[in-house]
Amino acid sequence: MQSKHSDRPVFRFAPSPNGFLHLGHALSALLNHDMAKATGGRFLLRIEDIDLARCTPEFEEMIYRDLAWLGLDWEIPVRRQSEHFDAYREALDRLREMGVVYPAFLTRGEVKSRVAEYEAKGTTWPRDPDGSPLYPDDDRTRSEAERADLMARGVKHAWRLDVGKAVALIEKPLTWQETGSGQTDIIKADPAIWGDVILSRSDAPSSYHLSVVVDDALQGITHVVRGQDLYAATAIHRLLQELLGLPQPVYHHHRLTLGGDGRKLSKSEGSTGIAALRKDGLSPADIRRLVGL
Ligand code: GLU
Repeated sequence: MQSKHSDRPVFRFAPSPNGFLHLGHALSALLNHDMAKATGGRFLLRIEDIDLARCTPEFEEMIYRDLAWLGLDWEIPVRRQSEHFDAYREALDRLREMGVVYPAFLTRGEVKSRVAEYEAKGTTWPRDPDGSPLYPDDDRTRSEAERADLMARGVKHAWRLDVGKAVALIEKPLTWQETGSGQTDIIKADPAIWGDVILSRSDAPSSYHLSVVVDDALQGITHVVRGQDLYAATAIHRLLQELLGLPQPVYHHHRLTLGGDGRKLSKSEGSTGIAALRKDGLSPADIRRLVGL
């Protein structure tokens, strides 16, 4: 059945309730909202709260409050990722059936000391675009028998994408459409720069990468408008979309709002928090001006 919404562009703002929203979030939310309005599209809000240890109901409440104060309205019900772990598990099962994920047993500490040991010899360990060391080969190259044995012994494990194997399954060139540059560019995606990304942890059934592509597809998102800091992650998102047979949205990565010292804003910087600025007497129009809209 065709939904009544079928032909309209669909935008989303997808914050994580693990801190207060700052000016960078305001820019993203306002841009999504403005673009939806300008194109007769829909504007959705998605709460990305898979990290149950860091996300809180208080931060979530503040998101609704800050966005409403900014003058945004969004469709109800809001999708909260913590209520949909089954959907992400199902996607992971499909990837497991395709043979492109493997159980990863190394702990963070083990990876850290491996890298430190290696780098102490004067060689640099390869890193991903965010600066994290790529995951070592050990678990990818383990035999099935060894994996089964470790799992039977109850050794804690995550699930990682075998990025090399996954890329080899994709028959056409992996690209995405980017409009953040003010024109449409076709960007070549190179997911291998991320190494074997994590898709689920022993303490969290889904990762950001997996849940974001599942949700963008389930919610029919046609335009992903988000900060430039997530530009490189798009390569992994495109790979997962192709593996899972999901549609590809258009991507628009916008400039980041920088703090006074030129650094990227973080949620801990109270001075640029929306709530703090509101308390200081700024208006929603002031916020628009501050973020350059
Ligand atoms: N939840 C992510 C964040 O707060 C954004 C995800 C996205 O827009 O793809 O940074």
